[in-house]
Amino acid sequence: MPTKVIVDIPGEAPYDVRIGSGVLARLGSHLRAMSAFENVERVLVVTDEEVARLYRADAKDSLAQAGFRVSDIAVPPGERSKSLDVIGEIWEAMAGIGLGRDCAVAALGGGVVGDLAGFAAAAYMRGVPVVQVPTTLLSMVDSSVGGKTGVNLAAGKNLVGAFKQPAYVCADTATLATLPDREWTCGCAEIAKSAVIDSDEFFFWLAEAAERLAARDEDVTAEAIARSVVFKADVVAADKAESNGVRECLNYGHTLGHAVEALAGYGTFSHGAAVAEGMRFAARLAAALVGASLDFVRAQDDLLDALGLPVLDWLAEPADMLDAMKRDKKARGGRIRFVLPRDVGSWEVSDVDDEILLEHLDAWRR
Ligand code: NAD
Ligand code: MG
Repeated sequence: MPTKVIVDIPGEAPYDVRIGSGVLARLGSHLRAMSAFENVERVLVVTDEEVARLYRADAKDSLAQAGFRVSDIAVPPGERSKSLDVIGEIWEAMAGIGLGRDCAVAALGGGVVGDLAGFAAAAYMRGVPVVQVPTTLLSMVDSSVGGKTGVNLAAGKNLVGAFKQPAYVCADTATLATLPDREWTCGCAEIAKSAVIDSDEFFFWLAEAAERLAARDEDVTAEAIARSVVFKADVVAADKAESNGVRECLNYGHTLGHAVEALAGYGTFSHGAAVAEGMRFAARLAAALVGASLDFVRAQDDLLDALGLPVLDWLAEPADMLDAMKRDKKARGGRIRFVLPRDVGSWEVSDVDDEILLEHLDAWRR
């Protein structure tokens, strides 16, 4: 049974997130029924070449059957497509086929396509609607909801972009059948992050369901997506423009995680594996600094193990890790910020001193 979550962010039009097997076939008819699409004649599907091979025809058919004129553009898969060059090509292509303000963009793919197409829609003719059609677990639970879009610069990731909430999100869980295992665990790490930050209710449900999620049980997957979307929607509703600190909780596990990704070389470890490592480290830091219990640390370790996110077989010099964390764009004036859970469902953000970090990084190596 498909599920629907409504995302209601102050000052934005509420939007539906449809989650379930087969919902892609009803994408066109659902859009047709929306008042925001009354004047939309044409839809541009933006996707990557890998996802195009698998799901472009299904997406285009669904839209065409609902009466939209459909075009598409497929970019090379991977993070490198989140660039000024590629987004420039997309805008030129949109203008080249004569898309006007009566068009919408459908982002069919993972977070790369979602961020790229979302930003393309945010700026084309000063803004046309975007529909997110996530096809990775990570994009279903994280990037398709919340409105952050953008591209990378040589100087760093996501440095240019816009807040652009989607008009609709269509998460067809059947598309996950073709997702590689590495990408699966990336989504699992973000789900675990959400559960730890959110509540006992989510955490203990996930602890119990973790093996079935790792084995890709369909019902458990759909429920994990719905719970994660509800969590993210609540966080974004409380801090739409990342201006009051609430949204910072989404960075749990990412301070050390980003440093691991950067130092090991991008792509050596998946984002999820690095974030899981970061969660394990942050929980230990939280035990020392904000009174998290060892039972909590162990429960989170068990959860990550059960999700197939083991401790990394990799070590870096503490001083190098410290430097990498200082280079992260979320560090403020050389101070390294950590989301520290006091317990499941309770967290704070704190600047952590270099000496304390070095000590813990050293202990983490043993
Ligand atoms: P991705 O978009 O690169 O997709 C991963 C790989 O899976 C790609 O090679 C893609 O071709 C392939 N793929 C996608 N769907 C598939 C399917 N159903 N079957 C088989 N293969 C499939 O990666 P991602 O992890 O989805 O997204 C990562 C990006 O998301 C990063 O750029 C990150 O910055 C961004 N992100 C954005 C937000 C946000 O709030 N906007 C949040 C988190 C992450
Ligand atoms: Mg992440």
